[in-house]
Amino acid sequence: MDNVQVPMNDLSRRWYARSPDARALIDNVLSSGWYVQGRHHAALEQEFAQFMGADHAVGVASGTDALELAMRAVGCSRNSTVLMCANAGGYASIAAARIGAGAVYVDIDPVTHTMSPDCLKEVIHEDDGAVVVTHLYGNVADVPRIRDICERFEVPLIEDCAQATGASLKGRRVGTFGSAGCFSFYPTKNLGGIGDGGAITTSSRDLDSAVRRLRQYGWSTRYRVDQEGGMNSRLDEVQAALLRPGLQLLDRDNENRRRIVRTYQSATRESEIIRMVSGSSDSFVGHLAVVECADTNTRDQARRWLADKGVQTDIHYPIPDHEQPRLPAPVRAVPLPVTESVVGRIFSVPCFAELTERETTTVGDALSSFSVPGS
Ligand SMILES: *Cc1c(COP(=O)(O)O)cnc(C)c1O
Repeated sequence: MDNVQVPMNDLSRRWYARSPDARALIDNVLSSGWYVQGRHHAALEQEFAQFMGADHAVGVASGTDALELAMRAVGCSRNSTVLMCANAGGYASIAAARIGAGAVYVDIDPVTHTMSPDCLKEVIHEDDGAVVVTHLYGNVADVPRIRDICERFEVPLIEDCAQATGASLKGRRVGTFGSAGCFSFYPTKNLGGIGDGGAITTSSRDLDSAVRRLRQYGWSTRYRVDQEGGMNSRLDEVQAALLRPGLQLLDRDNENRRRIVRTYQSATRESEIIRMVSGSSDSFVGHLAVVECADTNTRDQARRWLADKGVQTDIHYPIPDHEQPRLPAPVRAVPLPVTESVVGRIFSVPCFAELTERETTTVGDALSSFSVPGS
């Protein structure tokens, strides 16, 4: 596209705005002589736990590692089954596959595109290893009901909060509803660094110590391997130093993202062929602004219409996990009519905290003026 006026993302805006402070922090780390799990890392773990209202937070190397370590910490291993949704980008599937656990996919709610509690109830067994619920696009899943179901079947619940860092439901932050919350600090996330990073929140002391051992070779103390399945998954000191001030700005950034999603909601309210998926849950933070169309043809036309107006779009995600050519097949086949019905009808429009009013209006106007030619 040659005439990009509104990009899907522009990460340099965030770091340009924060540049003098960020440079000072990087300098501070450089001169400290301590580059992994130093003072900023310890402080970030404390500040992140406090912000979330969790007893513990553990820094790890990525969101995918957070999922893998959380699965291992709640007891998943080879031959466990992990329940999850197939439309959430594949991260939980990858994590399960790495430990040799099998995936079972649960269908989604047609409005929010997050896990349907009714479908979960149909699919869950008491010997399942874990349920992973993803707060997709910044929409908060129905975690109170999902947690009730998990408790009834005594299956641990893991929240994937990589797209909803800082979101809360009735005053309680996501990442504190289940046994563990998993976060990613990949640059595009709501709280993003300048590289990879992640965290796990938990209020269980046992899970906290298990994850702390797992992220560092399974060591209980230096050079003593006390836990099976250990790996190297540490959060580096530069990321930790830069994420600390980012955490202070997270609620403000999320408010900007929510405002953008609300603008798009107003722009599409009258339409009978497109609607916003993002913002459709009881509470939300904007992460991706995802639009659902009446059919695939309308989706393709809408994307062309926006491209003509200089608005970049993308699809999150074009291939559901159970149709990925090289992910293991699900260990129990469950019908996924809603997942399969929406995959060809969704696309994403720009949504990031530094998007300007003018850009937001450009996208909103393009959405509100869209209609299928000839109708
Ligand atoms: C980004 C993301 C992850 C993985 O995080 P990485 O840090 O990229 O490994 C996991 N789950 C969801 C829903 C994500 O969006």
